[in-house]
Parts: sequence; C-alpha cells; structure tokens
Amino acid sequence: IDFAKASFKDFENIEHYSIQQRADIHYEFLQYMEKKGHLNYRLLGSSGCGPMITLENGDKSGMDRYISLVSNDYLGFTQHPKVKEASIRAIEQYGTGAGASPLIGGYYSYHKEIEDKLCEFFNRAPGSAIIYNTGYTANSSSLMSLLQKEDIAIVDMGVHASVYEGIQLTNTKRFLHNNMDDLERILKMVQHSYRTKLVIIDGIYSQDGDMAKLPEIYQLARQYGALIMVDDAHGIGVIGSKGKGVLKHYDMMDKVDFITGTFSKTFANIGGFVVSNPHISAFLQYQSRQNAFSATSSPAVAGVTTAIRLLDEEPQWQKRLWENIDHLKSGLINLGFDVGTSQSAIVPVKIGDPHKTSELGKILLEQGIYTNPILYPAVAKKDARIRMSVMATHTKAQLDKVLEGFEFSDKKLHIAKIKY
Ligand code: PMP
Repeated sequence: IDFAKASFKDFENIEHYSIQQRADIHYEFLQYMEKKGHLNYRLLGSSGCGPMITLENGDKSGMDRYISLVSNDYLGFTQHPKVKEASIRAIEQYGTGAGASPLIGGYYSYHKEIEDKLCEFFNRAPGSAIIYNTGYTANSSSLMSLLQKEDIAIVDMGVHASVYEGIQLTNTKRFLHNNMDDLERILKMVQHSYRTKLVIIDGIYSQDGDMAKLPEIYQLARQYGALIMVDDAHGIGVIGSKGKGVLKHYDMMDKVDFITGTFSKTFANIGGFVVSNPHISAFLQYQSRQNAFSATSSPAVAGVTTAIRLLDEEPQWQKRLWENIDHLKSGLINLGFDVGTSQSAIVPVKIGDPHKTSELGKILLEQGIYTNPILYPAVAKKDARIRMSVMATHTKAQLDKVLEGFEFSDKKLHIAKIKY
C-alpha cells in the first residue's frame, strides 16, 4: 500500500491478509498520518459539547481551548439548563439504566413520552413513532425489516451511511444527488419490476448542507407508485417554522411515508426515531431486530422531550442560529472561499485536494479553531473539504476569529477559489 495515496477505506479488505495483519498495516498508516500531522481525528475533548471545547491532544502547542465547529448540537441545547434538569430529574426518578430491551421490560414512561411528543411534533396519529438507541439504527434497522428481496430502495447518492447499511439485503439503485432526471429514469425503469419501491432521501445532506428537492421528489415518487422516506437529522431545529424541519419548510408534513431522525443533534441527546403510522410502528417494535433485542435508552434520554418543547417555547435559538450561519457564510464568501450549496447550519469550505484540506485543518487547529477535514470515502476523492457546524450559541467574536483563521491560512495555502 502506498501510504501517500491511501485512504482509510483501503484497509477494509486487503486480500489474503489476516485480521491481525490488516490491523498492523492500518496501524502503520495511522503512525504515518500522525507523523505528517494529518491525523486530526478522534481528538480528546475534556469539556462539554459547546461553542468552545478543551482538547487534550489538539495541536500539541500547549493551547487547550478551541473554538469548536464540530458539534451538531445546533441550538446549544446540550447545555440548556431546562434540558439538563429534565435528564437529571429522570435519572433521579428512574436510575441510570433501563435494564432490558423494550419487549421484555425495558419500555418506560420516559420513552413513551418522547414517542408521544414526536407524534405531536410531526402531526401524526398517536402511536406513529418508535424510538431507537441511535439515529444510525433508526435508519439501518428499520430499513432491514421493512424492505425484502422483492423490493427496491432508490436512494439519493448523498444519503447517510446508515441508510446504505440498511439496504444491503434488498435491491438498490442510486440516483445522482438531487437530480430529478436521474430519479425519473430509475423510477421508470423499475416501476413494474418490484413489490415495493422506496425512495430514500435526507432532508438536509450531511456533507454539503443542501436541501432535498422534496416537492419534485414527492411528485415523481407518487407518479411511479413509490413510497418516500426522509431522514431529517440535520433539518430539525434548523429549518422550517419552529424548527420543524424540511417537511414543514415545504408544507409537506403529512405527505411522506416515513420520517426518520436523530436525538444527537438539535435534540441534544442520543437516540433516533422512525415516524410513520401506528401499524408500521407496531411492526417495527417486534420485527426490527436492533430495537427488539437491544436494551432501551437510559433515563438521561428524557431531556429530549424538553428539547422538543423548547423548539416551540424558545424560538430565539433558531433565530440566533440563522444570524450566525449568515455571518459565517457571508464572511467566507467575502474571503473568496467556496461554501457550495449549503442551506443549513452545515457549512463546508470546499478545497478539493485532500492534502491541502488536511493541511488547512491543521493550520486552523494551530490557531485555536477546531473543524473537521472531510476526505474520501466520506466524500468523493476530488471533493475534500473542511466541514463546519454552526451553533446558535457561537458568539460573533468567535465566528470573526474563525474568519481570521481562514484568511491567515489562505496566505499560506492559496486555497480561496473565487476572487471577487
Ligand atoms: N442520519 C444522518 C443524515 C446523519 O448525519 C447521522 C449522523 N451524523 C445519522 C443519521 C446518525 O445519527 P446518530 O448520530 O444518532 O447515530
């Protein structure tokens, strides 16, 4: 393996090597990356999630406080006193764990309260929501039990890894990202060949931060007899009136067949959900293996109910988030950076070259700015970028420091593409 050209994906299958040999070669690669200063991953945080973070092993320059642009806690609710209090209260009342899977004793009132709240939030009949231990399994496990070999999943190329995992046992076609001609081409081709056709999209795409063309997708899916699943992990809290997400933005709350999402972003916790209708939820309760055979979430998850309520009661957070997004994005554009097609709190700075992207991540870190360099296989090889998540609780001064960091880095790396 040529380490200079390798990516992490190259270590998944190295033919004829044992597990230990693959791990050994992989370890050598990690050391190579570390030596080059390109291993800006798994940094050890020792303060809470928020606009500033303490890193134990940041850039080894002795600086330990960084402006953080890596958290999807978009509204800052992980530190909201009411959300914290709800989780603490639930732990005091119920203890620290649920002790069993949901079918055999692990289903508690704090779980049902979240499910009820989700039904109300998405304007669905009671009993339409089921919660999972992560957003990842909400997608992967529900898809594994909903789709069988007679069916087909038709997915936007940009959907999250959890969707790809969930459709491994069914037929799959991928359409070019948000490309309606390609979607129609596939729908036309498969329309008479499968029992169920399910179009799966994200509301907001996690690497570019752009929004699905939901009205057009809906129209095409219905025209060719397909169902629709929308994962709105990054839309909720950010998009639509009172943070109700992409479906609300398009006024299509009641239109799609499945809504999935996560508690790990705006809802400031850990877990995920599928919202559909009561019979589908009951089906998943018994048939979705990672739900049925896995212990339910701990009482700390109770904070989610409060976070959902706060979207309605404290709309100022969503307003502040958008002021911050606009401030950072317009500043980057003024500096000549390419922020792509983002329409959300995910702000990519597109660089292209993976080595320059890693280098940029390192220089930013040295200036006390913590971002994520995103390389292949998370994005295409030529599409490397720095990815940032804006929070409502970032201050303008922090965001200005980030802009200064990009300006400084550009003097070294010459990466700003668009010159006005
Ligand atoms: N869907 C999307 C679009 C995501 O970006 C993510 C994770 N970042 C998930 C699902 C998985 O959510 P979780 O972190 O709760 O597993």
